[in-house]
Amino acid sequence: MHLLLSLFPCHWPSTASDVNAIIHACWLDHVRQPVLFEIIKCCMVHSPCGRAFPHMPCMCDGKCSKGFPKLFQPVTLITTNGYPMYAHPPDGCTYDVAGFPANNRWIVPYNPYLLMRYTFFSCSALHFTYHAFLDTMHT
Ligand SMILES: [Zn+2]
Repeated sequence: MHLLLSLFPCHWPSTASDVNAIIHACWLDHVRQPVLFEIIKCCMVHSPCGRAFPHMPCMCDGKCSKGFPKLFQPVTLITTNGYPMYAHPPDGCTYDVAGFPANNRWIVPYNPYLLMRYTFFSCSALHFTYHAFLDTMHT
């Protein structure tokens, strides 16, 4: 699912702190937020592309048309055109996603609340993770 939201200008995030409050572009702690971690793993990692995968749909003239993998970016920056460069921190975390080692450079920006709200109930594998997490909370 793709979702496009429009905000009134008075609600536009104008600082890096504003952006960080609503958008993430990195892995979350899989111990503290296991369900959201699995959703990110399932839905918010750009498919492997680049020279090793030249036939992926995102490839155009030998490059990813979406700009993946992104550069490591320690902090979010607001650029002169108003678009943020989201934080893709070089934290050393890499997770296996369908046999592909994905670090923060491959994470598609997401809003944790909306991702949880609109993805969780459509994936039965996530229900298993959620209930396993609840079981650990009650033991
Ligand atoms: Zn790509």
